[in-house]
Amino acid sequence: MPKRVELHCHSIYSDGTLTPAALVERALKSGTELLVLTDHDSVSGAADLFAAGAAAGLAVRLGIELNCAGEGYADRVHILGYGFSPDSPGFRERLEGFRERRTERARRIVEKLRGLGVDIEFEEVRANAHETLGRPHAADALRRKGVVKSRKEAFDRFLAKGKPAYVDSMGPSPAEAIALIKDAGGVACLAHPQTAGGDKELEELRALGLDAVEVLYGAHTPSQVRAYGAWAREKGLLALGGTDFHGPGTGREERLGVEFDDAEWAAVAGRLGCS
Ligand code: AMP
Ligand code: ZN
Ligand code: FE
Ligand code: FE
Repeated sequence: MPKRVELHCHSIYSDGTLTPAALVERALKSGTELLVLTDHDSVSGAADLFAAGAAAGLAVRLGIELNCAGEGYADRVHILGYGFSPDSPGFRERLEGFRERRTERARRIVEKLRGLGVDIEFEEVRANAHETLGRPHAADALRRKGVVKSRKEAFDRFLAKGKPAYVDSMGPSPAEAIALIKDAGGVACLAHPQTAGGDKELEELRALGLDAVEVLYGAHTPSQVRAYGAWAREKGLLALGGTDFHGPGTGREERLGVEFDDAEWAAVAGRLGCS
């Protein structure tokens, strides 16, 4: 029997639209046996996640996703973390620092939008966020105002790299992100590797100490799954996976969970400490 698990999803504590408890409910409905919450730069969903998991009898774990910055890396490299201790010295403070930089970035994005003649205030963007602020909250503000119809349209017209309201990510470098997770006792995984570049970039990232790569990504084609799976095997990286579910209204709301076969799952469960 394949094992259906979700190792990559987002809640209202970052740029998702469901609470952790609602994610737990969805996981049960979709036949997902383990749910790992990987909000961007926040672990504030933990209490809700663990309470809902215990009440529903679903295995849940806390993860994280750190969107990186730096030459060639900005908005291409995202690092997922698993099995870290959120109480490690300085860990929460570092996340708070990343979130402050996101707030600064959001202010700059709003300035650019205003410069383009869009009538929008920073407070309208912030009002859409529970904690971690990101471009999706600017997209949601544009949608509320009727400027765009979807997050996708907001990215395509304004917010994606190369578009007129784009501002570079101010997140950690990949080296910092990987070190932060590993210093807290965790496993560092390259998220959706297809956005990170080609062989050269993957090799550079691996050399920074990656433990894992997201092979079974929801949006990967079968040939991408084979190629990243082969790379993981060749380099001794753990092959992980998830859908990057963000919730209703985000354009990223497919069925929760990806399927591992028994042998693959045994390797993952051992490293992540889940059964
Ligand atoms: P940020 O963290 O502010 O750089 O925003 C990145 C987030 O925006 C990603 O984690 C996705 O959730 C979301 N995103 C990126 N591109 C798109 C898109 N084309 N449509 C919808 N959401 C997107
Ligand atoms: Zn996101
Ligand atoms: Fe990501
Ligand atoms: Fe994600």
